[in-house]
Amino acid sequence: MRILVTGGAGFLGSHLCERLLREGHEVICLDNFFTGNRSNIKHLLPFPEFELIRHDIIEPILLEVDWIFNLACPASPIHYQHNPVKTIKTSVMGAINMLGLAKRVHARILQASTSEVYGDPSVHPQPESYWGNVNPIGIRSCYDEGKRVAETLFMDYHRQNKLDIRIVRIFNTYGPRMHPNDGRVVSNFIVQALKNEDITLYGNGAQTRSFCYVSDLIEGMYRMIKQESHTGPLNLGNPHEFTIMELARKIVEMTGSKSRLIFKPLPADDPQQRQPDIRQASEVLGGWKPEVKLEKGLEHTIAYFSDLLKEHL
Ligand code: NAD
Ligand code: UDP
Repeated sequence: MRILVTGGAGFLGSHLCERLLREGHEVICLDNFFTGNRSNIKHLLPFPEFELIRHDIIEPILLEVDWIFNLACPASPIHYQHNPVKTIKTSVMGAINMLGLAKRVHARILQASTSEVYGDPSVHPQPESYWGNVNPIGIRSCYDEGKRVAETLFMDYHRQNKLDIRIVRIFNTYGPRMHPNDGRVVSNFIVQALKNEDITLYGNGAQTRSFCYVSDLIEGMYRMIKQESHTGPLNLGNPHEFTIMELARKIVEMTGSKSRLIFKPLPADDPQQRQPDIRQASEVLGGWKPEVKLEKGLEHTIAYFSDLLKEHL
């Protein structure tokens, strides 16, 4: 297969490109480098099966490909709130352009959607059938509503034009190659702990998340595009739920850090709880379930950030 990965130089995209090459595919990585980085994919550049294109998906592009993974979109709150109008354009105009491309070249196309489509959920854990509780005019809306419209577009192209689509709703994922300054909780806490700086808990730290290690997520995405029966939306994530306070304590313990825990105001519309219901994913994807335990995943991620900080000393 020749496969296009938009957002391929980002955190998830770079791991996906790597996996697809390992499976023997040709990969075209497309990125505008807003939050992605050449260093994430520089080890892939020597492969003849790998091609890199600098392009912004809000502009159309024509490429002959068999499959498309549409990952291009800033994913961390500080990045997607930096230019909210651009974030919506990326989700909506980007989806229209990629769906148009898929229609033209008869490609299968997978959308990287998000647990944010459930907003601050009143149903717990979240099954795919839950419609969500999203503020349409808040500071997270550019991301949440953009991703919701993208899902609508995918479903309408599927119904109207018989496009071969897949939608995955990704829950919080972490691992090496997360951006060190993207403000997401795992990267923030690890970098703060390694520098013995204060660990910033937003609110009282009682809000929960469920974190999936990147290799488990990529396995789920790859199985999703390969299978023939299910368009999604399908939840992908790790159902192991814990509080942000517990995460902070675990990271301090694992890094042997002298950091103190301090409290900062909770950002607006910050979801109180989040846990994926992955029963459907397990059924559709041949028994898929996350394998990497939090401690193991954190170990790899801490080692990555520790090397990164040494390089920049
Ligand atoms: P990331 O910021 O590391 O990667 C996004 C990539 O898209 C970057 O390389 C960026 O430069 C590129 N990009 C952004 N706007 C673009 C545009 N207009 N044109 C071309 N490229 C553009 O984030 P990530 O964590 O790797 O997330 C990848 C995808 O997965 C995103 O769509 C995100 O919404 C989704 N997702 C991620 C998570 C997670 O926990 N990591 C959770 C839910 C959904
Ligand atoms: N968070 C925190 N301190 C930080 C960064 C994040 O307490 O330095 C909290 C944040 O308020 C949220 C959770 O950690 O409740 C996860 O935040 P992240 O931005 O990683 O992901 P999202 O909110 O999009 O799930």
